[in-house]
Amino acid sequence: MKIAVLSRNPRLYSTSRLVEAGQERGHEMVVIDTLRAYMNIASHKPQIHYRGEPLEGFDAVIPRIGASVTFYGCAVLRQFEMMGVFPLNESVAISRSRDKLRSLQLLSRRGVGLPVTGFAHSPDDVPDLIQMVNGAPLIIKLLEGTQGIGVVMCETQQAAESVIEAFMGLKQNIMVQEYIKEAGGADIRCFVIGDKVIAAIKRQAKPGEFRSNLHRGGSASLIKITPEERMTAIRAAKIMGLSVAGVDILRSNHGPLVMEVNSSPGLGGIENTTGKDVAGLVIQYLEKNVSPHRTRTKGQG
Ligand code: ADP
Repeated sequence: MKIAVLSRNPRLYSTSRLVEAGQERGHEMVVIDTLRAYMNIASHKPQIHYRGEPLEGFDAVIPRIGASVTFYGCAVLRQFEMMGVFPLNESVAISRSRDKLRSLQLLSRRGVGLPVTGFAHSPDDVPDLIQMVNGAPLIIKLLEGTQGIGVVMCETQQAAESVIEAFMGLKQNIMVQEYIKEAGGADIRCFVIGDKVIAAIKRQAKPGEFRSNLHRGGSASLIKITPEERMTAIRAAKIMGLSVAGVDILRSNHGPLVMEVNSSPGLGGIENTTGKDVAGLVIQYLEKNVSPHRTRTKGQG
């Protein structure tokens, strides 16, 4: 197969591992800088140009679209879909997953366990919003945040009101969430490919921190997940329409709660902790599923 990897940087761990795994399995791998691909959207024959040449002959595309380039990256991916190239994850599913609130609404509609979460626009509604999520301590999240930045814990009602008002004053969209204390600063990252969790790790926050993000100094270790956690992760990815996803789960007193479904999950933490060839499994998934013009939405979403 000829496989495009949409990525801003070929030296990133995940990108280079996917290229290596594809080449090992005899495929032609081409890294395309997402922001340097350009296209004629009005043409009868959809095309993408790159460094002065049209991109041709691709069987599959692996999107590794960073949060900061979601809009343009999804447009490029949609163009690949219109050309009949098989996407590992579809553009519609990726843009859906990048909206944290929409994602939680989709998951809750299908009965997936989630932390109690509230959302409001007017500062006048803040006190009631806080009551709605069972009061302090609580978590406030910027909707556009990633890697734990913009996730704040407020221990008292007063602190929560001040922080929410400050974010609202800055015209930032936020959500307010119950704090899952019993998770003990840990979460579980389940790496889903197709209808399987192929690897899972536990991420533990450093002492004095509640955010377990590896970027915030968290540490990763092996974990055996329960059948309920496995089923929850697979369902969450499926509801989001993602073939490959990193599903982040909190262990609560009343079962697994999904925090987030990530459409470009990093390979570094999971491969290094589990020793599994996750990149190879991603390529194998493409080998089994690739076929031209198979995108459900044909880039129309
Ligand atoms: P980001 O997308 O920026 O990583 P997350 O929503 O994943 O933001 O939150 C970052 C970290 O904060 C999580 O990995 C988890 O450890 C912790 N966290 C987030 N929400 C909660 C919550 N409701 N209760 C307890 N811990 C939480």
